[in-house]
Amino acid sequence: MNRKGVSVKIDELKTDFASVKNLQVSIGRLIDETWTEPIGPTPFPSLTALREWDMTLLQRYKPFYMPYCDVCCLCTFGKCDLTGNKRGACGINMEAQQSRMMLLSCCIGAATHIGHARHMLDHLIEKFGRRTPIDVGGLNIKVEAPITRLVCGIKPDTLGDLEEVLDYVESQLTHLLSVTHTGQEGSSLDFESKVFHAGMVDHVGMEVADIAQVVAFGFPKADPEAPLVDLGYGTVNVEKPIILCIGHNVVPSVEIIDYMKENGFDDKIEVCGLCCTAHDTTRYYKRAKIVGPISWQLRFIRSGVSDVVVLDEQCVRADALLESQNVKAPVIVASEKNCMGLPNRTSDPADAIVEDLVNGKMPGALILDPEKVGEVAVKVALKVAPMRKKFKTIPEVDEVIQKAKECRQCNDCRRACPQDLKIPEAMKTAAEGSLSKFADLYELCIGCGRCEEACPVGLQVHSFIVKAGEKKLKEETYKV
Ligand code: SF4
Ligand code: SF4
Ligand code: SF4
Repeated sequence: MNRKGVSVKIDELKTDFASVKNLQVSIGRLIDETWTEPIGPTPFPSLTALREWDMTLLQRYKPFYMPYCDVCCLCTFGKCDLTGNKRGACGINMEAQQSRMMLLSCCIGAATHIGHARHMLDHLIEKFGRRTPIDVGGLNIKVEAPITRLVCGIKPDTLGDLEEVLDYVESQLTHLLSVTHTGQEGSSLDFESKVFHAGMVDHVGMEVADIAQVVAFGFPKADPEAPLVDLGYGTVNVEKPIILCIGHNVVPSVEIIDYMKENGFDDKIEVCGLCCTAHDTTRYYKRAKIVGPISWQLRFIRSGVSDVVVLDEQCVRADALLESQNVKAPVIVASEKNCMGLPNRTSDPADAIVEDLVNGKMPGALILDPEKVGEVAVKVALKVAPMRKKFKTIPEVDEVIQKAKECRQCNDCRRACPQDLKIPEAMKTAAEGSLSKFADLYELCIGCGRCEEACPVGLQVHSFIVKAGEKKLKEETYKV
């Protein structure tokens, strides 16, 4: 157990033998002696605490740089040409610039996880209390917070104990980000050492978020009998109103499920999710469905099955609102990190928001109160489903064949495709009446939509592929 600093101030203390004025006692941290394991030499390490070890590693496994960009535009001196052995106006060379960009990327990733952890922990402490005990599996778990214990040297016992851990990673992240500023670090190896540090604090942040949600939401813990859950589009009952949750924060999904259960709608609505949040949601509610990976957002939205799309944070496509509008599905955004330009309706009565979403007065709403998200999502899904009748933007086979005839065989789509898929060939075959070559691309396509952006004729290449693979998509059912 660990408690943050304690400070005691006494203006005047009189005893039989003396009088003391303005006494102030500060204790940095209280550590409970019940944890007998000795603390290592570097608890809560700073940016340079492990530098020596990093350098040993980096000398043995020397970094090799293949620049993915030749210029730097990170300050107003730029852009600077760093090709060959040239240095930028600040004196930086290509090696240091590459490792600096890597540090910046790692800080972005770490900030995303740590920000999520903070959001989650604050919410759960408010809802369940700071003294909620950390139990992640009782005697089945030997080390309940391995990364936190290794890095910070403390054993968190309650949700409140995790706050200090997050305070630490947040401060480290600020320092790391400041290192990427023009005129700070100049050595590629020191940048790399800080990249290691960023990766380390990132993992601490992820562990905090995971522990907090496992503990507070009562997810299965070290349970060999944890139920298998449904995975795949084919597991979803498309006859029901469907709420699709996209992002990496389970809190809105939990509130949707709670509202459904409390109001007797749990057998009337399907709650689905993509990727991590979907997995977390199924650990909270075994009737929730995982429809697929986060990279398949486009195909799921365009398929028209979702009657309400709930977006929170991380890995949400920037065009998710636009795509949802195309299939007439109202959108609720539930995270202040991803407001999508929508009006903030958090303070409005739930029924007023529902009315505006159902009547199409606005395509979506920002709602930062998770409980209100739950109520609005359920009510909107029930009202919108009979009106939109699973309206979709995936074309019919005849349309694909007709449209494919407009293809100029310019190859721009294939050049833009990260998978180098033979799209022009599939277009040719489709124009002749067969979607078989598009069907062959279905499993290989990662759903990025770059081909459509590249096409000078504006052909909906990705949707053509999804149409060709539709049967497969609808039959996908797995257990996980
Ligand atoms: S940070 Fe350095 S290399 Fe980059 S634009 Fe500024 S001066 Fe040029
Ligand atoms: S969406 Fe288009 S560009 Fe992206 S992987 Fe699929 S075919 Fe290639
Ligand atoms: S970019 Fe468009 S027009 Fe060009 S080959 Fe691809 S589908 Fe055809």
